[in-house]
Formats: sequence, C-alpha cells, structure tokens
Amino acid sequence: MERRLAHVLSEFARTLVTEFPIQSILDHLVVEMVRVLPVSAAGVTLIEPGQPPRYIAASDTSALAFERLQTELGEGPCVVAYHSGVAVAVPDLRADSRFPTFAARAREQGLRAVFTFPMRHGDRQFGALDLYRTACGPMSAKAMAAAQTLADVAAAYVLNAQTRVDLQNSLDQVRANSLHDPLTGLPNRALFLQRLEHAILRCRRSGKMVAILFADLDRFKEVNDKLGHNIGDELLSAVAERLTVLLRPGDTLARMSGDEFIILCEDLDDASQVEALARRVNLAFVEPFLLSESPVPITASVGIAFAGRGEDVPEQVIHDADTAMYQAKRGGGGRHAIIQPEASRRIHGRASLYQDLREALSREELRNEYQPIVATAAGRVTGVEQLLRWSHPTLGLIPPLRVIPIAEQAGLIVPIGRWALERACLDLRRWAQADQSQRYTVAVNVSVHQLMAPGFAAMVADVLSATQTQPQVVTLEITESVFIHDSERALLVLNDLKHLGVLLALDDFGTGYSSLAYLNQFPVDIVKIDQSFIADVARDPTAHHIIDAVVGLAHKLGISVVAEGVETTSQHEQVAALGCDFYQGFHFARPAPAEQLDALMARRSTPATNGR
Ligand code: C2E
Ligand code: CA
Ligand code: CA
Repeated sequence: MERRLAHVLSEFARTLVTEFPIQSILDHLVVEMVRVLPVSAAGVTLIEPGQPPRYIAASDTSALAFERLQTELGEGPCVVAYHSGVAVAVPDLRADSRFPTFAARAREQGLRAVFTFPMRHGDRQFGALDLYRTACGPMSAKAMAAAQTLADVAAAYVLNAQTRVDLQNSLDQVRANSLHDPLTGLPNRALFLQRLEHAILRCRRSGKMVAILFADLDRFKEVNDKLGHNIGDELLSAVAERLTVLLRPGDTLARMSGDEFIILCEDLDDASQVEALARRVNLAFVEPFLLSESPVPITASVGIAFAGRGEDVPEQVIHDADTAMYQAKRGGGGRHAIIQPEASRRIHGRASLYQDLREALSREELRNEYQPIVATAAGRVTGVEQLLRWSHPTLGLIPPLRVIPIAEQAGLIVPIGRWALERACLDLRRWAQADQSQRYTVAVNVSVHQLMAPGFAAMVADVLSATQTQPQVVTLEITESVFIHDSERALLVLNDLKHLGVLLALDDFGTGYSSLAYLNQFPVDIVKIDQSFIADVARDPTAHHIIDAVVGLAHKLGISVVAEGVETTSQHEQVAALGCDFYQGFHFARPAPAEQLDALMARRSTPATNGR
C-alpha cells in the first residue's frame, strides 16, 4: 500500500504546477484511491460556509449516487467531517445516529460502511473525501492515516487550482483596467498613444493638424512630501477635473504618469488655435485647489507640440512636448512653451536622440545606480540591483524605460548592456574589498534583445573574467517576455548562463503572462514579485493570495522570492509574513550612485530602517 500511496502522491506533485483542469485530476485521484485503499468507491465533496455541499468527483456510479445523496440531503458524513475537522469512521451504518436519513437511504442502495476525511488546509476545511464500502468492518489505522494524507493533499490541490483561477481572473481584470488610470479614471499612457496614433493617421487624409499639450505640475513633490500622499492623490484628481472642463468635444485628456497630464487636440486648422487652450490651462491653476483639509496652490508647466503629416511618430511628438514643457519649467513654471512643427523635426527628432545616445557612452553620460536588496529575516543588505541612468546634456535625466527602447532601436543595446554589466562588476568588487566578510551580489537587468543577441553568454563570461568576478555573485534579471519571443532559444541561452554559474531572476513577475509553469520550465533561481502586488497587498485579498501562492510554489521548487517596491512598514511586515526571502524598495533605500552606497556596503550588518 505504501508504495502505491507514494506513487499517487508523486503524481499529484507533478500535476500541481501544470494547467491541468482540476476536475480531471480529482476524477483520476478518486479512482487511484480505490486502488490504493481497501474501499469499494470514493468521492470528493466541497463545502463552503453557508452553502450546501457540492460533490465534485466520484470513482464510479455508486460513489456518485452517495455523493449526490449527501448533497441533496445536506446531511451525511461529509457534513460532519467538515464541521468537526476530524475523520468520521462508520464501520457499520446501522449503528450510527448522526445522519439517519442518509444512512437509511444509502443502506437501501447497498452501502454498509463509510470513512470520511476532512480536506484541511491550515485551520480551514474545504470539504471532505468519502471512502465507501459494501461490507461492514473497521479500517486499519494505517489506511486511515493514508486516507487523511490524501485528503489534505487534495485540499492543497484544490486551493492551488482556485488560486490559479483567481490569478487569471485578476490578470484579466488588470488587462481590462490597463487602459485607464485607476486614480482619476482618465485614459492612461497606453490608451493615449493609441488615440494619438489614430489622430496622426487621420491627419494624413484630412490635411489638418493635431496638437498635444503636456502639463506637468510644478513642485508636486513638495505637496506629496509635506502634506502626504493622500492629499497628493486628491490634488491629482482635482486637477483632472479642472482640466476635463476645458476640453472641446473630441479632445482627449490622459494621465501619463505621476503628475503629468496630456491633452490631445485634433482637427486643428493651424497652430495658433491651440494657444488659446494653453492659456486656459494656465488660468485653470490660478485659483488654489480646495482639498479636504486646506486650499493647496499649485501651477503647471505646459509644453506644446504638433503633428501634422501622417509620418509623425507618436513617441516623438510626446518627446517634443516634453522638451517644450521643460523649457516652460526652466522659465519658472506656471507657463507654456511651444515647439513649432518644423523646429521639432529639425532639432529634437528621434534621429538626434539616437545620435546623442551613440555619443553618451564616450561622453560618460551613462551611469549605474544601485538599489540595495535586503534579506527579510535579518534585515541585512545582501546585494544590490543595478539600474541604468542617462543624463542627457539638454533634456536632463532620461528614465531607463525610455532609454532601453531607444538603445534597442539604435542598435546600441549590446554595447550599453556590456558596459552596465562591467561597471556593476567593478563596483561590486570595490564593495567586496572594503568589507571582505560580506559576500554581496549584484543583479543586472537584461532586456529580451540583449539576451537574444548572438554571443550574449560569451559576453557575460568575458566580462566576468575581465573583472575577476565570481559568477555566483551575479544575478541576471530577465522578464517573462523572453519566453514569449522564442522560448526554445531562450532556454538554450539560459542554460548556457546557468553553466557559467550566474544566477537568473524572473523580474516583474505577475505583470506579463504569469504562468506559474515558467518557474518549473526555465532554470530560474529567483522570482521578483512585481511591485504592483506589493502595493496592493494590504487592500486586496487577491494580491495577498497571489503572493502566498507564488511563494509557496517557488519554495517548493527551491526558488527564492524577492518582494519589489516595498514602500511602507506594513507592506514589509506583510511580505515577511508571507514568506518572501528578500525585499527591495523605497522603504529601505532608493536607488543611488555607487559612491553613495560605499558607507552602507562597508557596514557589517544594516538594520532594515526607513531610508526616507
Ligand atoms: P525594474 O527592474 O523593475 O527596477 C525596479 C524599478 O522600481 C526601478 O525603477 C526602481 O527605481 C523602482 N523602485 C524601486 N523601489 C521602489 C519603490 O519602493 N516604489 C516605487 N514606486 N518604485 C520603486 P527605474 O530605475 O526607473 O527602472 C525602471 C526599469 O528600467 C527597471 O525596472 C528595469 O526593467 C529597466 N532597467 C533599468 N536599468 C536597466 C538596464 O541597465 N538594462 C535593462 N535592460 N533594463 C534596465
Ligand atoms: Ca529588475
Ligand atoms: Ca521589477
């Protein structure tokens, strides 16, 4: 019996991480149980508080009949086992008084004995596993123990399958919401880009122009810092309302990010028409905003750019408006600046940004910042994540999410990626030399294009040896998109990297396709749960369950878990309680240039205190 039991359990373990339908697994399981245990039939019933029992699996028609009977009557051993949380053994149905109606009707259909086991998880029950017999007599202690184990495994299985369904539902929800900003309800960047693209295409036919007004609040950060994020959010909603009033029918107002709003005006005959709107936008900020606590004065800097001919690229137009906005800001804020259509193409076209990036390496405009990663248990810094920064000579700091696509399109991602890795290894070596008792790790971000470029693994090997870096202290962070592009080739490259001895982390987990099966299929050592889940952990039970499920599965597979974007004590406590191994976020430290971290990295052990 033990051998067969082990076989069933291992079958369960194998299907746990697959997308197998729960129904067919449970059907299969009950049949296996009848083979392993001395019983004639088996069935599974799920019970939720306040709901009638619901049978979900049966080994044959007799089991189905008994499961149905319990469901119909709302009475029977499964109900007793569910409520008591302990097994119910009825070696002779005639002698039992707890479920008389069920006993009498089941006996008519040939049932003589029943043994029922609650399906438990923690201190909760989900339902029960019923084992039926056509002859009277007790079940051995060994068989009882085996049956309880199977019932508990089935409970874990059902819970896991349920979490998977919840995860899928919440991802669908996220996708549905992903075109609007949850705070203001306005279209977000993605939707705005779609509309802009369509508007530009329409221009080609109509011969008219579109304008975009890019508004960035002046000193919004001070409001957030002084009055708190709640007031900051209230202010953003109020600004959204005021700007909405100014729109003409057909215009689009969107929230791009943080304190950036953007207006799309279509069907313009000439550039001057938009000046009036820009003035109204500036006027809209004259009166302070009356928020729940006090009036808050704020102004906005507005940059305006145009697109007219069908070939304009949405990203470029936004970039132009952004550049104009910075001019307005430098002029003192609370005003607008315009980039004329021709000028925009001449001065700030995309081509020039490519060219600028080409020179950025030699001009030393690129640098790495590093954000500490902390072990949850001891609150000790164990390593850092590298994050790229580009200080453009006129446009200022350009965020990595903008730099990486430019680098990819300009064919510069390979040299820039190599540079970033090399720099990270050198900085790590300096820290290791300063405190030889520590073994820090450095995590380096790698985009799909980088990973798939020919010779990527060889380049990594080359950098490790040139900088005399042990492979075990380097983690490469990749995202799930890698698997989507060309999973066969991805697997080859990842295996090459594993051979080198570097660690692999799956970044932003939960934002993409989020198949838990990836954790099993690809050789990852670390999974980084995306910050959106951490932000939601206190408010949204689904986020909580998802983290719980990811941690549970990752640990079973020997993968460690990093919680990203931990911003508050309460988030830190919750991710620690959920069993995350490491965390990273503003709560502990913001990304900083290497030199600024020297002191921190030289300290032996650093308590996890708020770095704000
Ligand atoms: P990521 O890998 O998810 O990096 C974490 C991002 O979250 C960083 O943004 C970091 O500054 C930010 N962050 C960290 N803690 C918190 C927090 O508590 N709250 C909030 N709200 N944010 C937090 P950053 O530096 O803007 O980087 C953005 C993304 O750009 C990175 O996301 C990464 O995917 C990419 N990236 C950065 N450097 C490189 C690079 O050298 N190569 C490649 N391929 N991608 C890079
Ligand atoms: Ca990362
Ligand atoms: Ca991430």
